[in-house]
Amino acid sequence: MLEQLVGESQALDRALSGEELSFNDGMELMNYDNLHMLGAVADNSRKKLVGDIVTFTSSYYLNYTNICAASCQMCAFYRKGNEDDAYTLTPEQIEKRVALAKQMGATEVHIVGGFHPKAPLDYYEYMMRIIKSNHPELNIKAFTAAEIFYLSKLTKNSVKEILSRLKDAGLDSMPGGGAELFHPDIRSKIVRGKCSGEEWLDTIEQAHNLGIKSNCTMLYGHIEKPEHIIDHLIKIRDLQKKTNGFITFIPLKFSLDNTELEQEKQVTHECSSVYDLKVIALSRLMLAGVLNNISVYWVAYGKKLAQVALANGGNDLVGTAFSEEIYRAAGKPTNSSILELANIVKESGRIPAQRDTFFKILKKF
Ligand code: SF4
Repeated sequence: MLEQLVGESQALDRALSGEELSFNDGMELMNYDNLHMLGAVADNSRKKLVGDIVTFTSSYYLNYTNICAASCQMCAFYRKGNEDDAYTLTPEQIEKRVALAKQMGATEVHIVGGFHPKAPLDYYEYMMRIIKSNHPELNIKAFTAAEIFYLSKLTKNSVKEILSRLKDAGLDSMPGGGAELFHPDIRSKIVRGKCSGEEWLDTIEQAHNLGIKSNCTMLYGHIEKPEHIIDHLIKIRDLQKKTNGFITFIPLKFSLDNTELEQEKQVTHECSSVYDLKVIALSRLMLAGVLNNISVYWVAYGKKLAQVALANGGNDLVGTAFSEEIYRAAGKPTNSSILELANIVKESGRIPAQRDTFFKILKKF
């Protein structure tokens, strides 16, 4: 079937032969309207690069505070310190939750929060130490590059100093959040009080240089245009060529409910499933050969669309996401068990496998 495509689109020809795609190729494919063929080429690339296994991890999501000095237009999670439902967990409370997560089978804890305007660096270091000393076998994946950058400004320490101290205290890896879209034309309209795209990239590069690997994300489906998606993917690709520090790329579908973008009617509905699948396929094709793990975040897609996304370039379902409060705030159901995720994969005709944070296979089903 794929041979029939030759000559139909230069960009697809290049993708089929495994060549690196340019910005113009990416734009051509964003505007290519045969989703079926685009998905098939992405699926072919996925099969060649990573085979038929679809992975997921047993992960516990913990948001240590919802108090945030920023007020991003795309966020339903943040609160100001004087609001009734504002909270900040103590390191001891966090450790108790982590102990519970371990009993539930978690192999990693994913810890992120708002930009707390008063919490000192000690708070974060102690949080790492108390978890690591009680649960040394768990991978602590904590703090987005945006949080690290904020903490550096707040405490007047360099990014490198913050990262080094947190690493010494137990930080093992970092999540990929806060990237949103790097392009300043869009970023300035969806985030308020958060680092720039360049600052995010510089912070995560410094983390990689210190041996802290991370994920990377892209928030799409709001007010962006195709060129902003391609720009973002190329910036991720360029940095990965330098550091090889990204573990997986996770496109995040914008969830509308309770956000300022919704309230101000700048976005009135979530993007279509066709667009979701195009973004997954483009992620696979633009990053092919450089960053080969493309994660499908089922929490945002729902399980059925996630299955289709796996046939359009995805090779990972992220994880169980026990207790994911950010998406819940924006109206998404959460929680799934490892067996449920394994069944999602089996139903889509692929081989399910539980992995650790760094994609080492722990168990096949
Ligand atoms: S996205 Fe993050 S930085 Fe922005 S308001 Fe929400 S919690 Fe704060």
